Amino acid sequence: QCPWGARNTTSISCSLADVMSEQLAKELQLEEESAAFPEVVAAAEGPFITGENIDTSSDLMLAQMLQMEFDREYDAQLRREEKKINGDSKVSISFENYRKVHPYDSDSSEDEVDWQDTRHDPYRADKPTTTPRKGFTGKGKDITTKHDEVVCGRKNTARMENFAPEFQVGDGIGMDLKLSNQVFNALKQHAYSEERRSARLHEKKEHSTAEKAVDPKTRLLLYKMVNAGMLETITGCISTGKESVVFHAYGGTSTTEDKVIPPECAIKVFKTTLNEFKNRDKYIKDDYRFKDRFSKLNPRKIIRMWAEKEMHNLTRMQNAGIPCPQVVILKKHILVMSFIGQDQVPAPKLKDVTLSSEDMKKAYYQILNMMQQLYKGCNLVHADLSEYNMLWHNGKVWLIDVSQSVEPTHPHGLEFLFRDCRNVSQFFQKGGVAEALNERELFNAVSGLNITADNEVDFQAEIEALEKMNEDHVQNHGKKLSMFSSDGDPPIYNE
Ligand code: ADP
Ligand code: MN
Repeated sequence: QCPWGARNTTSISCSLADVMSEQLAKELQLEEESAAFPEVVAAAEGPFITGENIDTSSDLMLAQMLQMEFDREYDAQLRREEKKINGDSKVSISFENYRKVHPYDSDSSEDEVDWQDTRHDPYRADKPTTTPRKGFTGKGKDITTKHDEVVCGRKNTARMENFAPEFQVGDGIGMDLKLSNQVFNALKQHAYSEERRSARLHEKKEHSTAEKAVDPKTRLLLYKMVNAGMLETITGCISTGKESVVFHAYGGTSTTEDKVIPPECAIKVFKTTLNEFKNRDKYIKDDYRFKDRFSKLNPRKIIRMWAEKEMHNLTRMQNAGIPCPQVVILKKHILVMSFIGQDQVPAPKLKDVTLSSEDMKKAYYQILNMMQQLYKGCNLVHADLSEYNMLWHNGKVWLIDVSQSVEPTHPHGLEFLFRDCRNVSQFFQKGGVAEALNERELFNAVSGLNITADNEVDFQAEIEALEKMNEDHVQNHGKKLSMFSSDGDPPIYNE
């Protein structure tokens, strides 16, 4: 079942006939091989290479892996020579430039232009830059005029929010988008024609290439991580979902990264076929900001955005002290994070664990607190919160799966929050927590809003009205209402 196959460590006792058996010889050989080359062998078997999957691209990958091995040996040799030449001499000659493997060597080729820099959170709210009357800021050669690319770009982005209401620009999640004049004009043109064209848009039927665990490119990336010492071994698959596959791995001891790699890691591989992307369209649908900017990108590149979003959201949560996996590294559509669990056994989901009524109550208050923290401290709504995405580990609840999380001001942010509240509320009410607030009370407690409707239908209507108000405000003023950050802090519920 697990693609890398757990190694069979139990030794087999056998008869003489068995010893002579060819079958056993083969088994022993295999065992030895898998001990010697766990990743390589693992990658070469399992469900990855089956039937029609045996193609030249796999051969290419194997060749690349081999090349990488050669390069590594070459570098080791280089290092030895470097040492020999330099000896104890104070002045030393570096062979750095002659090395073949570089830490996280930038992969070449067309596919490698990342959609944006991943080092800082593009989703954080950024103060808009304004240009004073005189038309420039700064002094001397640091002068910035209003024609400055960055300033102009931001202004264009702000203007884009004022397009016709039919033209959904999405919320951009507070990203610091900078549209060039050329792009902006093209977009404006597009907005006008779009208005007329209306609903003729039909997504073409996309065909995904079967449901494979991971594709050769992903395998190569994983292999690189092992090769670079980032990971020790990838032991197996924890979960296969519609949108992602999660693997367990033992952390390596790579010294190139400044942070310590956790002893056990979870690797979330976002699937790169169009099918899953479509399932997520309510989070990104009609977001022409993305569409325009990324229209030239293939789905593989767009899917990276989800991985990147999960990374930034996890980082925000980590900073707010919410128990969640810690980000180790993001490589394209692959997110490596700390493993919640122990000895390859993932922590159980809340839905699978039987808690004492005391723990249940504890978990409830913890979640209430986390939801408030998430909303207030991280400016996020989980948007897929349920007993499926909460793990019970070390006597507390851990939040996972936040790639779809949005800011409360997302056009559907409050609806997502309400759905989260409903899940949580129902789970704990069924679980016998008498103190559990109902979904509407929970919603108010988390958001700090004070929606008074006493039935679900009216409540939902008020939520949608609020969202609409915000959207209208965005259309008219090019910025969001501050209504969601209500004046009073929501009461913090504690045990
Ligand atoms: P999906 O979008 O497929 O639901 P999740 O992030 O929820 O993706 O991951 C799927 C499953 O993998 C989770 O339900 C959990 O069991 C496991 N998992 C994910 N991340 C971790 C982690 N950091 N530590 C342990 N298990 C994890
Ligand atoms: Mn999940």
